[in-house]
Amino acid sequence: MSTETENKEILRGGQFLVKDTDCNEIFTPEDFTEEQQMMKDSVMEFVDREIWPNKEEFEKKNYALTEEIMRKAGELGFLGVAVPEEFEGLGMGFVSTMLVCDYISGATGSIATAFGAHTGIGTMPILLYGTEKQKKKYIPKLATGEWFGAYCLTEPDAGSDANSGKTKAVLSEDGKSYKISGQKMWISNAGFANLFVVFARIEDDKNITGFIVENDPENGITFGEEEKKLGIHASSTRQVFFNETVVPVENMLSERGNGFKIAMNALNVGRIKLAAASLDAQRRVTDLATKYANDRVQFKTPIAKFGAIKAKLANMATSAWVGESASYRAAKNIQDRIDIRVANGESHEAAELKSFEEYAIECSILKVACSEDIQNCSDEGIQIYGGMGFSADTPMESAWRDARIARIYEGTNEINRMLSVGMLVKKAMKGHVDLLGPAMKVADELTGIPSMETPDYSETLSEEKAMIAKLKKVFLMVAGSAVQKFGPQLEEHQQLLLAASDILIEVYMAESAILRAEKNAKKNGAESQKYEIAMAKLYLYNAVDTITMKAKEGIVSFAEGDEQRMMLMGLKRFTKYHNQPNVVELRTMIAEKLTAENKYCF
Ligand SMILES: Cc1cc2nc3c(=O)[nH]c(=O)nc-3n(C[C@H](O)[C@H](O)[C@H](O)COP(=O)(O)OP(=O)(O)OC[C@H]3O[C@@H](n4cnc5c(N)ncnc54)[C@H](O)[C@@H]3O)c2cc1C
Repeated sequence: MSTETENKEILRGGQFLVKDTDCNEIFTPEDFTEEQQMMKDSVMEFVDREIWPNKEEFEKKNYALTEEIMRKAGELGFLGVAVPEEFEGLGMGFVSTMLVCDYISGATGSIATAFGAHTGIGTMPILLYGTEKQKKKYIPKLATGEWFGAYCLTEPDAGSDANSGKTKAVLSEDGKSYKISGQKMWISNAGFANLFVVFARIEDDKNITGFIVENDPENGITFGEEEKKLGIHASSTRQVFFNETVVPVENMLSERGNGFKIAMNALNVGRIKLAAASLDAQRRVTDLATKYANDRVQFKTPIAKFGAIKAKLANMATSAWVGESASYRAAKNIQDRIDIRVANGESHEAAELKSFEEYAIECSILKVACSEDIQNCSDEGIQIYGGMGFSADTPMESAWRDARIARIYEGTNEINRMLSVGMLVKKAMKGHVDLLGPAMKVADELTGIPSMETPDYSETLSEEKAMIAKLKKVFLMVAGSAVQKFGPQLEEHQQLLLAASDILIEVYMAESAILRAEKNAKKNGAESQKYEIAMAKLYLYNAVDTITMKAKEGIVSFAEGDEQRMMLMGLKRFTKYHNQPNVVELRTMIAEKLTAENKYCF
């Protein structure tokens, strides 16, 4: 670890809301090392050679092809990026892990899901919670693609309520093994997995327990048919039935009753990786839509010249670029936190676990934001292609169907939205993030007299940064009052939590974009970043609108009379631009750059 990392005071998870971040403190894709750049190039080359040309086969539910591609990915080391070298992985940092996940996932959701399920929830629980013996036995096989892993948590009656599963694990009389019986549902990679991470309940334990279960048809393991799905057609998804499956006691993961914790921690990392897995799909969809818009002529004009199409292209590129900005910012925070913990003597596994937990709020934010962005992006992609977009002969149709699952798995977006705010409030209660102090300051500001001075916003993005500071106040005003009003009962006010989480999400995404543009503008000059600055401004403009709407909804749901009036006035003040950006001009500029380059170029 560099002394730079050691000395740097990095933000704790959730602290972005109450602390200013200097643009030079964030990591951006422009900071990729040579090694990371090489990794990116080799993954892109792999996708273009092995995956993209076979898109049709994936839509025809060619599960064998998915397995074959996964095996090849294993041979190239892509399945073991996050795995330490002692277990035959590449032992690269978390940013590299995100990068591989990002670029390998862009061509089809089938590979994105197979890759995510195997390297994430199929491997990480063993890597993070396994004993040395378990890791030595299983991780090298998983890291190289000799074996594939799957994760069996969900059951017919236990989905979002994951700790309520009925699958049982019964200890044998001689105390040497457990017999697992139960039904697991929606299990990705089930059709070709050699190993399952299975969660089951021992006796009447409050919490479930994790087990490593080898796939053996002689050992009471059977499968349902492949599910017939809306998208990710070549991702194997089956029910898995365990009928008195014998599992040696040494295959218990961590301790008895620790399964729910394992499951949730595996999901933290799964969520941020799912955000990454939504990025290259957006780049590719935007790229294709740009090319199509340049080629397609109507009214004797390439449709790319129409303002309606320009607006779509600009929004698509912006969401891809902003998602990328926020995802790699959080990834580097996680990596730095891991490095610091390791330098302080913790094992790599313990350091990873604590660091993913630390940034669980950002992981949820990113999962929601990026999964919704790829949905919107592919939807607009279809629209740009017109009737051809609706045809299964063009890539937009499958991109749209494949995108849909990202809002459902790794915790639905509703659950992740509520979790993000819930975790933040919990962190505040524990004193890990000081929300109370800043929230009280905002409350004081509401009753004070606002300054009439016009600030100097001549510096690039200075008004946008001031706007972010004000938007943070909106969150503190709404969430702070809600916590005061409802206390622990806040979790029952789901619509309010959802509104608060939308504010949180928009603040994080917009801030990440602005800091990235500012950092690169300071480094290379504002002129070189004019499109990135335009995207940051465009994103912020839309974020201000969303935040205004959501905050208003929240305020009127719990405040009345003078209190409501005061908060609504505060909202007006905190969302006010001094110089309204001309978003039509911004979108036009971004779109014209895309169409001039005839590709996604940011
Ligand atoms: C293609 C696919 C692959 C999958 N892969 C795996 C896998 O590999 N391993 C695995 O274990 N699971 C897997 N899953 C399961 C997935 O994680 C669950 O589908 C998901 O967690 C939601 O659970 P559910 O389907 O039971 O929906 P439910 O929990 O029944 O939710 C239905 C709706 O109710 C909402 N809801 C539920 N609870 C609440 C609440 N408390 N408050 C507000 N709203 C709520 C949800 O947000 C959702 O909109 C996969 C699913 C699919 C479709």
